[in-house]
Amino acid sequence: MPPKRRYSAFAIARETLRQHAGWDRAWADRPMKPRYDVIIVGAGGHGLATAYYLGKNFGITNVAILEKGWLGGGNTGRNTTIIRSNYLQDPSAAIYEKARSLYETLSQELNYNIMFSPRGVMMLAQTEHEKRGYLRTAHANALQGVQTEFIGPDRVMELCPIINIDGPRYPVLGALWQARGGTARHDAVAWGYARACSDMGMDIIQKCEVTGVRSAGGKVTGLETSRGPVDCDKLGLVVAGHSGHLAEMAGFRLPIESVSLQALVSEPIKPCMDVVVMANTVHGYMSQSDKGEMVIGGGADGYNNYTQRGSFHHIEETVRALVETFPMISRLKMLRQWGGIVDMTGDRSPILSTTPLGNCFINCGWGTGGFKAIPGSGWAMAELMARGTPGALAAEFGLNRFREGRFIDESVAAGVAH
Ligand SMILES: Cc1cc2nc3c(=O)[nH]c(=O)nc-3n(C[C@H](O)[C@H](O)[C@H](O)COP(=O)(O)OP(=O)(O)OC[C@H]3O[C@@H](n4cnc5c(N)ncnc54)[C@H](O)[C@@H]3O)c2cc1C
Repeated sequence: MPPKRRYSAFAIARETLRQHAGWDRAWADRPMKPRYDVIIVGAGGHGLATAYYLGKNFGITNVAILEKGWLGGGNTGRNTTIIRSNYLQDPSAAIYEKARSLYETLSQELNYNIMFSPRGVMMLAQTEHEKRGYLRTAHANALQGVQTEFIGPDRVMELCPIINIDGPRYPVLGALWQARGGTARHDAVAWGYARACSDMGMDIIQKCEVTGVRSAGGKVTGLETSRGPVDCDKLGLVVAGHSGHLAEMAGFRLPIESVSLQALVSEPIKPCMDVVVMANTVHGYMSQSDKGEMVIGGGADGYNNYTQRGSFHHIEETVRALVETFPMISRLKMLRQWGGIVDMTGDRSPILSTTPLGNCFINCGWGTGGFKAIPGSGWAMAELMARGTPGALAAEFGLNRFREGRFIDESVAAGVAH
């Protein structure tokens, strides 16, 4: 497999001189082979990152990633791109911080500009209760080696002057601030990993829906797909909102609910905000994209569904809430809205686990906040799949925690805000 030509300033200059005729396809479109050592179902960020670290960290490259739609077309291409690691519990802080630190150099590692922008993330404290909660998280983060601090209202104003600090119902009492949190271009993350996987000889098969899981003697042997059967030694299910369906095909049940989570963007305006702000009490979060649009995240639907569209009542609810804290957005026109099917566990923490079916592994439950975790999750899932047992990062996120009552409660940190 010839390695792809590297992207560089020199390559751009060269191609400029020859009408951009010399670029390779970013990833190959190869037919599915009859058998693979490892099959990953789901070409979202988590599935692609799992495949990438299987190749990079363990030398396992006879891998296929099967995707029923187009790669990155699930939640990975639908999220509001917030990256942070200021979670409360030790196992969460460890995996999210691993991911955040990998994001720092991911563009260089993948030779693909994922536009990581560590512009800083602040979570506003707008009630005394919330303030106490964030002070607790800041202390926990100090012990976990995650760099966060609790800042007062003056510093909030300095960092984000468009906030109405003395809001009538919910004045801003301070914020939990993570200066190296930020955003990245979501589909570039998927594309970057896809290109690197393809470069290692892995097959990315799009428009290939998995319809059944085959097994013998309690172990997985292969899959039924819309493109025919395929055999494998190991299987990774990484399908976010569709995890329940895939688990059913593999013969087990998951403690997961699937709901739609919505977001919207405004018309583009001049730069007015260079940090990410989450206002969890009024419930909404906002950042400004490089194009100038205000990217706004709202809540999850209150009932289970598989809808990938937005709804008017959500726009109204989210924007009404945010206008209290950001009065200047009341004049903005909204441009588009959408939804993604998120996979929520009861403790709002992910599942990285072996399953009742031998050699079948699952990575799901990232719910409303898994974009930020993609590199760390892929790293940990690759370790789990290559060794058959979880490493330190995944150890606490097994399915058995639900049976044993060892919940990793992140409902405050991850309830919906990201
Ligand atoms: C509106 C919104 C805003 C969000 N904001 C943030 C945020 O700011 N920060 C953050 O950290 N997280 C955020 N998230 C959450 C984040 O997007 C997800 O946790 C993450 O993208 C999940 O990635 P994934 O790879 O597991 O799933 P996905 O990207 O959904 O990939 C799963 C893939 O599996 C495929 N698939 C499903 N069934 C099958 C089948 N039978 N056969 C083959 N393929 C199949 C799907 O087509 C899909 O492409 C947000 C989510 C939404 C919806």
